[in-house]
Amino acid sequence: MTHADKGWVKIVGLGPGNDTMVTAQVHEVLTEATDIVGYIPYVKRVEPRPGLTLHATDNRVEIERATHALEMAAAGKRVVVVSSGDPGVFAMASAVFEALEAGAPDWLDLDIQVLPGITAMLAASARIGAPMGHDFAAINLSDNLKPWSLIEKRLRLAGEAGFAMGFYNPRSKSRPHQFGRALEILREACGGETLISFARDVSKPGETITTVTLNEATPDMADMRTVVIVGNADTRRVGRHVYTPRFAVED
Ligand code: SAH
Repeated sequence: MTHADKGWVKIVGLGPGNDTMVTAQVHEVLTEATDIVGYIPYVKRVEPRPGLTLHATDNRVEIERATHALEMAAAGKRVVVVSSGDPGVFAMASAVFEALEAGAPDWLDLDIQVLPGITAMLAASARIGAPMGHDFAAINLSDNLKPWSLIEKRLRLAGEAGFAMGFYNPRSKSRPHQFGRALEILREACGGETLISFARDVSKPGETITTVTLNEATPDMADMRTVVIVGNADTRRVGRHVYTPRFAVED
């Protein structure tokens, strides 16, 4: 096999949606790829060109998709696995390493790299001001891969510990009631006056950002196109902006 035939896998983040938020590094590997693998709406964001094969697959087939990417790289293809935002945040990077762990031993010698992207929580924070300016936690509210009881525990403990929080996958049609329960826990753990922001379609056409208190928040303010940001007890408004101070005192 010549050097030109040597395959690789790059697991990349396409950012929150706007092309200007794709890193130059990711743009470059997209021009070098022979194959693109990912969930349908993310693969659609890659410009087709001769010599490039697009493999768009449905949601929830992450391991099959990751295994396919590794198989193609082992056969000499240059494979880019695309996620939205950052590939390490509730996305394909871990799925590829899970497939690697379960896969053929010689795959361990493959050239595999993760290229970061701007995750939804940080893109949203920047639009809001600086709500993640102090310590924070990122929590996936989907119970596809973990029990809901664990999500409740993490929400409560992170709230009580004074972390600001970013919530991914906050509310889907298949689990419409859990987000209301999450809001109840947050009111208890953080206090009802804590600020909460709903950032929908960040960096895309029709972007909306709404900030209210936890007491004012209602479940219908979130859907799967929304990332939800909850501040800590010190998070405050200054003019049109919301920020969390860099300092904290012992409580
Ligand atoms: N890897 C992605 C997250 C995938 S989980 C990242 O780092 O951003 C999918 C969830 O991300 C969505 O349900 C939503 O909560 C959030 N999300 C992704 N893009 C978004 C955007 N442009 N605006 C608001 N939320 C977004």
